[in-house]
Amino acid sequence: MKLEAQKQRTLLELSRTLRLSAVGAQAPELEEKLELEKAEKEHKRALDAAAASQMAVDDVENDILRIQADERKLRKRERDDKAQLSAATDPDVRRELEHDRYAAKSRIGDLMSELQEAHNEIHALRNNRDVHGARVDEAARKLETARRAFETAQQATPVAPERDIDAEIAELRGQLDEQTLAEFERQRTENGIGVEEFKAGKTCGSCSMVLPPAERAAIANAPKNEMPQCSDCGSYLVRPA
Ligand SMILES: [Zn+2]
Repeated sequence: MKLEAQKQRTLLELSRTLRLSAVGAQAPELEEKLELEKAEKEHKRALDAAAASQMAVDDVENDILRIQADERKLRKRERDDKAQLSAATDPDVRRELEHDRYAAKSRIGDLMSELQEAHNEIHALRNNRDVHGARVDEAARKLETARRAFETAQQATPVAPERDIDAEIAELRGQLDEQTLAEFERQRTENGIGVEEFKAGKTCGSCSMVLPPAERAAIANAPKNEMPQCSDCGSYLVRPA
């Protein structure tokens, strides 16, 4: 394709801007923002784990209260049986009271070992809850640090002016003639690039192929107003000014 050197740069810019438009021109995410999101997730995880450990403590504390309430009832029953026994004379009644008193004592014994177990358990569970509580505090501190770092970075990052890619494309097209645009579009339809740079005197900027020496020489020696094509991908190549 014949095109004066200045316009070749314009066409190259058009080709690149069109590709930018296709992927969407977005500012890269701040590293600090990713760190902040990570710290938020870790804080949330620590809170969930702490809540679960508190729930385990609550369960066993409720068990202890239930056992203690049962125990009080059984001790009262045992005392009542004992009081009635001191007055009862009928053998059947006495037998029944003896039996009930024995059952109450036996159940109290069971409850006492349940209570002992629950006390042992609650000790470990409370320790676990405290460990999780400390982790929440630590995660909250890290979150706060990450938030401050993000805010500082955000303030230090200049807000890039919004690019109007469509307007840029229209402006670049306006600088080029119809025939050049048609030839460019034909090649762009074929390989998705159309025009790229001839890099370091040996590499096609479109397909990244290092061209054979004879082709490199031919490209280097082509007239300035000529855009040679890459023998591999067909893109028109713009030589550095
Ligand atoms: Zn190529």
